[in-house]
Amino acid sequence: MKYLLYCTLFITTFNVAGQITEPKASEVWEPEPRAIKYSDNGIPSDAIVLFDGKTLDSWESTSDGGPAQWTIDNNCATVVKGTGNIQTKETFGSCQLHLEWRSPSVIEGEGQGRGNSGVFFQKRYEVQVLDSYQNRTYSNGQAGSIYKQHIPLVNATKSPGEWQTYDIIFEAPEFNEDGIKIRSGYLTVLHNGVLIQNHAEIKGTTEYIGFPKNLAHGEDKIMLQDHSNPVSYRNIWIRKL
Ligand code: MG
Repeated sequence: MKYLLYCTLFITTFNVAGQITEPKASEVWEPEPRAIKYSDNGIPSDAIVLFDGKTLDSWESTSDGGPAQWTIDNNCATVVKGTGNIQTKETFGSCQLHLEWRSPSVIEGEGQGRGNSGVFFQKRYEVQVLDSYQNRTYSNGQAGSIYKQHIPLVNATKSPGEWQTYDIIFEAPEFNEDGIKIRSGYLTVLHNGVLIQNHAEIKGTTEYIGFPKNLAHGEDKIMLQDHSNPVSYRNIWIRKL
């Protein structure tokens, strides 16, 4: 009986030339991906909400570890010049981050001085936030650049005062026990749904002056930059990868 079954299976799966003819032969059913549900505003059920527009309880000030000092109004948090960067209380490794940001509608300053902020992964690797709408600066420092490392593929910036999205895949770098980097980190960035960084290799820490460094570290916090411009953020959520 068993022999007959094997024979039937063989005949239905292979033809005389030994080629696979049965579509089912290459189907894989396990494991079954976990099903995601969505909240009313589209947040996936396995995401951690970092900012829902109401409180900055998931964040702290980088200067003293106290409460984040940025203002909350109309479901968004806005940089208050001089209060310092804010960072998540929780640490993260590789992740998918969604956030929305807005440059001030009142245009002030130029180049790096207009609508400057930034998203730092593990407090070290910056995806630049800048008002790059008709505001020329060095290309590896404009909105969506991996600051001073990778120029964005296009300039997808909307005009000041408009909300913009970043969807970012961060793959954390890896270090061995001796502190040597054994795998680079990578960043993929969609700006307003447009791919602007495609699996770009992180060369090391973001440096304003000088070159990237590669000192060993583990998981660390997500940081948003106070660069003295009143940039706003809303709807921030993260998925661990
Ligand atoms: Mg910046």
